[in-house]
Amino acid sequence: MSAYLEVKDLKKYFKTPRGMLHAVDGLNFSIEKGHTLGVVGESGCGKSTLGRTIIGLLDATGGQVIFEGKDITNADKAERMELRKKMQIIFQDPFSSLNPRMTVSEAIAEGLIIHKVCKTKQELDQRVSELMDTVGLAERFTMSYPHELDGGRRQRIGIARALALNPGFVVCDEPVSALDVSIQAQILNLMQDLQEEKGLTYMFITHDLSVVKHISNNILVMYLGQLVETCESDELFEHTLHPYTKALLSAIPTTDIDNRKQRILMQGELSSPINPAPGCRFAPRCRYAEERCKMENPVIEEVLPGHFVACHRVREINDMQ
Ligand code: SF4
Repeated sequence: MSAYLEVKDLKKYFKTPRGMLHAVDGLNFSIEKGHTLGVVGESGCGKSTLGRTIIGLLDATGGQVIFEGKDITNADKAERMELRKKMQIIFQDPFSSLNPRMTVSEAIAEGLIIHKVCKTKQELDQRVSELMDTVGLAERFTMSYPHELDGGRRQRIGIARALALNPGFVVCDEPVSALDVSIQAQILNLMQDLQEEKGLTYMFITHDLSVVKHISNNILVMYLGQLVETCESDELFEHTLHPYTKALLSAIPTTDIDNRKQRILMQGELSSPINPAPGCRFAPRCRYAEERCKMENPVIEEVLPGHFVACHRVREINDMQ
């Protein structure tokens, strides 16, 4: 079966006064239809840029994005317009992504109007009402403005906007990180229900591994524009192999005292993504770094079945010699 979405050697660089910023630097992965890929990394690792480049909000510097078997990397304006119906994004901060002068119904109707989906005003109102119902927004909020609603309800508008055109693929860019913990669970449950109901494929971007643990089929860990570890979600938590992923995992708070992991502190300075130096980008913060790590960038390799890691010393560190 061919992948629903395939990314091949994808690169996105930005020109800066100090040189080229390598935000996304040669990523390869695929997502099956109806699956969720969790993309994890600290802020500034390029994960949001990756999501935006895949759906065409940013032009790729190199590589390919293949969606439903078709190369869409250099899609023209008309093709992009069509793709916008199939590929959508839910933003992190629903407040700043919503127009403060638009009511709930206007915000949800916007995409439907741009793409001329409904023939009559009545049809448009009906569709908006259905979408509000789908995301659990009561009818009484139809004429409300974003500032009159709490964060959870604002994010429900963001989800309704993303679903308005019946997409198949949705980039969820930190959709719950601006919300209170109690609301986070509600929104995550809603997103999972919608995925099941509509067969959606998600790319779920987050800095918090615990958020994607239960909702992702596969997880991809990024560090400074590069992929450092990827495999199925359960496998990642059972056999964490890359030193960076181990440090991220150790930072997750837990109430399970018996299985509490000792926090691994990352010391040293973050290397610059601008004109990156040769060698492993994690080396300045890695306690296992040796001379080779500073000279050669590790290539990603299959260390266990279906489990890929980019680290020169992965076998040694994990007693797999
Ligand atoms: Fe650490 Fe070297 Fe592995 Fe990079 S390649 S993660 S510096 S051991």
